[in-house]
Amino acid sequence: MSAPTPSPLLVPIISDSPFSSALFDNRFVQSLPADPSTERRSRQVHGACFSWVSPTPVKSPQLLAHSAEVADMLGLPSDSHRHPAFAQVLGGNALAQGMTAYAACYGGHQFGNWAGQLGDGRAMGLGEVRTPSGQRLELQLKGAGPTPYSRTADGRAVVRSSVREFLCSEAMHHLGIATTRALSLVGTGDLVLRDMFYDGHPAKEKGAIVCRVAPSFLRFGNYQLLAFRRDLDTLKRLVDFTLQEYFPDLGPPSKDSYLRMVGVVAERTAQLVVDWQRVGFVHGVMNTDNMSVLGLTIDYGPYGWLEDYDPTWTPNTTDASGRRYCFGNQPGVAFWNLARFAEGILPLIGDARPLEEALMAFPHTFERDQAKMMSQKLGLSAWRPSDDASLEKELYHVLQLVETDMTIFFRKLAILSAQERDIHAFLDHTLRDAYYRPDDLQGPHREAIVSWLLKYQRRIASQDLSDEDRRSQMNAVNPYIVLRNYLAQLAIDRAEQGDGSMVYELLDVLRRPYEEQSQHARFAEKRPEWARHRPGCSMLSCSS
Ligand code: AMP
Ligand code: MG
Repeated sequence: MSAPTPSPLLVPIISDSPFSSALFDNRFVQSLPADPSTERRSRQVHGACFSWVSPTPVKSPQLLAHSAEVADMLGLPSDSHRHPAFAQVLGGNALAQGMTAYAACYGGHQFGNWAGQLGDGRAMGLGEVRTPSGQRLELQLKGAGPTPYSRTADGRAVVRSSVREFLCSEAMHHLGIATTRALSLVGTGDLVLRDMFYDGHPAKEKGAIVCRVAPSFLRFGNYQLLAFRRDLDTLKRLVDFTLQEYFPDLGPPSKDSYLRMVGVVAERTAQLVVDWQRVGFVHGVMNTDNMSVLGLTIDYGPYGWLEDYDPTWTPNTTDASGRRYCFGNQPGVAFWNLARFAEGILPLIGDARPLEEALMAFPHTFERDQAKMMSQKLGLSAWRPSDDASLEKELYHVLQLVETDMTIFFRKLAILSAQERDIHAFLDHTLRDAYYRPDDLQGPHREAIVSWLLKYQRRIASQDLSDEDRRSQMNAVNPYIVLRNYLAQLAIDRAEQGDGSMVYELLDVLRRPYEEQSQHARFAEKRPEWARHRPGCSMLSCSS
């Protein structure tokens, strides 16, 4: 079936590109109903899962960075990034043969309120590649120009947010956390107008495009919108498609398999959030349109990493007053979002009760995996609920007494020996690096921290695990290096000058996040004071 294209397609289709050897198998667009209109203007789209679109060409696409692992996974030749057509295609100035551009139609709850149709306003699918290992992976450009879902916005993205998305997707993958991936970061050579802090001071910023890669970019909001509109034919087609393509083990479409699917989505979402809590990742905009049905971290916007441990911290300035998406709320919000997803499936089931039961997979999985995760973080060979729940609770209290860097704390804690006699010396010499204000390690705060360390020490002495084995268990789940907000900002400052070298440098150290890399120790230090209040380092907005 030859795909209809929007009229007119604004970029050429080229045959000589690194993608010419890729095998495209564009199931999403072949299986699901398309918007019959190919008009580009912003509008409501009914009875369809996507619209055909075209990238809008940019001035001078320049490759700023690429991920060699993702290129390899797609089966692209290893020198692909040197081919001039690589930046042409990934900058949206051409389509490779086999590609077809489309924007998905979805809705969502934003900050708890139903927002109606949202859709890919600047993201564009380019098709699905069958990889050498037999997987099917979708390519998607973010920032490639307007679509029918752009509403009043321009369809573009800035270098700032694109560097952040590129680096964090890859960093998350290397941390072993489910995520969409990133193939490339391309500067567009165009300027876009952004009011970064929504305070009436718009400025021109350099544009960029990231190519994201995932088995699917389907979100909770794709189902929600169809259910909300009572478009049950399209909803059924989309749910059946999802089940058959991404959950084939759950059986052919039926009410039972739909319920099993909701259960598996709940389970994967719980596992994802446990992983986020483990490494101190705060997504920042957990709207239901930013929740992947595959349980992937998706849509990197104003995310951040906990530096000083504060469960009420949110990196997103838009969220500063309500703190809906702060670190400590992520599990509860994920569950709330799952209930909205289940409402999207409800019309196919007709009865809420079995859906509520299916959703219980979330608390079950979360509780089980959270205890497992915490015991690994603390190096406990087994979780003893009677003792360890209070050890954990007191730890969270102690971490908030004196501004404590979460990442460094757990790495340093691993050094403690079960036989160490001088806990004060351990605190003052080893753990000290984890504190932003070490002079505050005095009086009752000091007493509380020392008392917790002694309790922890008794606990590890009571188990049959050597210091060395405990240390390696802890270091396998507590990262040495994470993408601290200020590090990303330093890479952005250079990328805005057309220099992607620091993006590559960070990408390289983030490939081995659990390994002590003494030659890169500067990237593992706590946030410097200058970054405490600098925009981009401590606070971010949705503007991107
Ligand atoms: P986000 O908060 O990034 O998840 O975006 C929410 C919605 O706004 C999605 O439908 C996006 O496609 C859309 N959107 C965000 N930024 C832009 C932009 N610059 N141009 C068009 N649509 C956008
Ligand atoms: Mg989004």
